[in-house]
Amino acid sequence: MDIVRRRPITKIKPKFVSMPMEGKIRRLGRRSAKPYSEGVNNCAPATPIDGTGKIEILNPPDNGNSNFTVSYHGGAVIPSVSLELIFWGNAWTQTGTTPTASQIMGAVSSVVSGPYMTGLTQYGIGPGTLRGAIIALSDPPNPFSRDDWHNLIWDLIDQGTFPEPDDDGGRNLYMIIPPPGVNINQPGVCGAHGYPGDYDFPADYDVAWAGYVLNDGSLDTITTSLSHELVEACTDPEDDGWTLDGLGPPSDEIGDICQKTVARVNGVMVQGYWSQRDRACLIPLGINFQAMPSPAVFGRGGPDITGGKKSIYVVSTTNRLAQLWDTNFWNLDFRAEQTPAGAGLQFRTTPAVFDRDPFQLSQATGGKKSIYAIATNGALLQLWDTNIWNGDFPASAPNGDYAPGWNANFRGSPAVFGRGGPDVTGGKKSIYAITSDSRLAQIWDTNRWNGDFPAEAAGGNYAPGWNPSFGSDPAVFSRGGPPETGGKKSVYAITVDGRLAQLWDTDRWNGDFPAEAPGGSYAPGWRPFFQGSPAVFGRVGPDATGGKKSIYAINTDGRLAQLWDTDRWNGDFPAEEANNGQFQNLRFQGAPAVFSRGGPPETGGKKSIYVITTDGRLVQLWDTDRWNLDFPAEEANNGQFASLRFQGSPAVVNRGGPDATGGKKSIYVVATDGRLVQLWDSDVWNLDFPASHF
Ligand SMILES: [Zn+2]
Repeated sequence: MDIVRRRPITKIKPKFVSMPMEGKIRRLGRRSAKPYSEGVNNCAPATPIDGTGKIEILNPPDNGNSNFTVSYHGGAVIPSVSLELIFWGNAWTQTGTTPTASQIMGAVSSVVSGPYMTGLTQYGIGPGTLRGAIIALSDPPNPFSRDDWHNLIWDLIDQGTFPEPDDDGGRNLYMIIPPPGVNINQPGVCGAHGYPGDYDFPADYDVAWAGYVLNDGSLDTITTSLSHELVEACTDPEDDGWTLDGLGPPSDEIGDICQKTVARVNGVMVQGYWSQRDRACLIPLGINFQAMPSPAVFGRGGPDITGGKKSIYVVSTTNRLAQLWDTNFWNLDFRAEQTPAGAGLQFRTTPAVFDRDPFQLSQATGGKKSIYAIATNGALLQLWDTNIWNGDFPASAPNGDYAPGWNANFRGSPAVFGRGGPDVTGGKKSIYAITSDSRLAQIWDTNRWNGDFPAEAAGGNYAPGWNPSFGSDPAVFSRGGPPETGGKKSVYAITVDGRLAQLWDTDRWNGDFPAEAPGGSYAPGWRPFFQGSPAVFGRVGPDATGGKKSIYAINTDGRLAQLWDTDRWNGDFPAEEANNGQFQNLRFQGAPAVFSRGGPPETGGKKSIYVITTDGRLVQLWDTDRWNLDFPAEEANNGQFASLRFQGSPAVVNRGGPDATGGKKSIYVVATDGRLVQLWDSDVWNLDFPASHF
């Protein structure tokens, strides 16, 4: 199974807190506006389920009957919990106490912010954070009562250790853990959560979200109970949120019917919870992705307003090539591993994909596509689907025709374009990739596979100072033409010395540097040195002479450069012009993604650009009569994920719709925590994690 990063648990330490006011505050009583109840979990042990090789565990409820419905009652939920642990008693300061407070903090941090919580998105809840922990230096009675632990919470708030619940930063969830062997005065109960209240005289009645779990000296027991109380507290903190129909307190919350579903997530034992979407008890086990470089996506068509169908290719943190695709839910597999050619290969770079089914004859089952991926051993793997998945190595085919000095060992990510032809058998395509010795290789199929080096072709016409040695991934666009002869194309790549090179074929190969062209018109401050990889789109026009295109690349100083051709080359910095210069100090990383929204090519066409800033923010740039810039991930879901940050490069797929206002699109990008993020626009921006739930 894919293992998410483990936190270094020994580095986390709780704070010691003395209790000067303990028992000295006379409270008016534990009354609430409605009958008070709290969810409890009992102490029945369960056998853990082995999740090896799985991405989630789905299990029937404890009574075997999946005919449950969970309903929302309009009250409080905790969308992204801020969890504080309270270790109750002087025993936690002693070295012999096991598990230690630090071990518990490490495990709980992994539970609250990891994949375990991702199945709660259907209830409007996502992962949270461990805010911190304290050791309360007062010993609990044994057994302690509900009033005892309620008083502990309010003593800590009233003495100023924690903020008032209605003050800034006060909406936390407090979970109390007593020392081993200390019990509650309710036999058979192992944990509870509730909302103890307090009057601040004369009239302010506040409730705190809180609970406890008992400690039998086993970390597994503590995290199992705590995970149960955690998901229930988030979905139903005040007994008026999400509860199961037909049941009553204290056993009507989403964990209560799933106490026999227990498994390890990233090594930490947790309990399942009811997933209405699955009609089962769920434990998401998580799969995380590499952000460098980006995911690849293609649209399989279908009704765009509801999102269309798409297939996404992305590499996991364990170097597996994952395919994600949507039917009426998300699916994930690792098809490369199931082909004889791909078995045992690992990957670290973005695959390239082209759609062999442009008429979407079989979109329900995924459409037909060919995928190109460079393995960690340098091999270029081709994968394609017929009625099964197939794999081979086009750069080293048995009957291939390759140029002298051919090197079939590659690095980085390839680019591909389809040259047309009958799609069921694969169509014709040309592939561009950088060899291990920095040469740009072209691989194309006729009746066999062919390979050569277009940047150093015999008879080629190259600009003065030409350097056929490349550091970036190539970008390519097809200018059309007969597929048998390869079609016409323009290829863009950044040389090892940072120059943007353009290659295009007429009756021979040509090469120049569009960012430093004689007669070019460039904005003040222009520097023709680039990092990362370029993005390009064709703006249409007569292909024989090259067509019109716009190119996007990041300068070595982090500025986003735009290059486009009219009767000459032009260059400027669109993000610095946007919104009247409000964002001119933004700097960028990775590679931009661009899609064309159409419009007259003479004026550049309309396009939307997606790119990550050096501090991890996802930027959208689009042109109307001027440039506009915003941060779609920060707007999505009413700002719920505004603090999410990203790495690498986004991928975008156009879902169609009216281009003047931007069309509809879906964007895929990996967050700094390794989660694959999907953003899409309806009348607002929406964000979710397609690989976190299936
Ligand atoms: Zn419960």
